[in-house]
Amino acid sequence: MQCPVCGRTYVFELDFSNLFSKDKPCPSCQKILDQQYLEETIPVSRGVIAYRYFTDQSSLAYEVYQIYAYQFAKALDMAISHDLIIIVESHEYSTIEAWLPLFFGFGSILIISVIWFDIARHTG
Ligand SMILES: [Zn+2]
Repeated sequence: MQCPVCGRTYVFELDFSNLFSKDKPCPSCQKILDQQYLEETIPVSRGVIAYRYFTDQSSLAYEVYQIYAYQFAKALDMAISHDLIIIVESHEYSTIEAWLPLFFGFGSILIISVIWFDIARHTG
């Protein structure tokens, strides 16, 4: 069977319980997809930032990063309670000093990333 996430071919035993669920991720992708996000709460001058990320590593291989990116939907499930959602990758983080203070007045901000960035360092 071919994994719909990474595209690799893997051995998958069909039985009656999984006969109609053929688009099942391979075991290594499923392990990543089953992980919950990590969260930091960062107070700012006029509100709070909820910062969610999927791994505390500061870098990942490109293929693994892409698998984690499937997890954004999981982090967005709770996003309805926030005034602003910002998805941060390396490029956005490199310019964070310029744009993050502009959003402090929004009240409840949700920042999501795959790898961990030191967001709290830029809020003080
Ligand atoms: Zn896979």
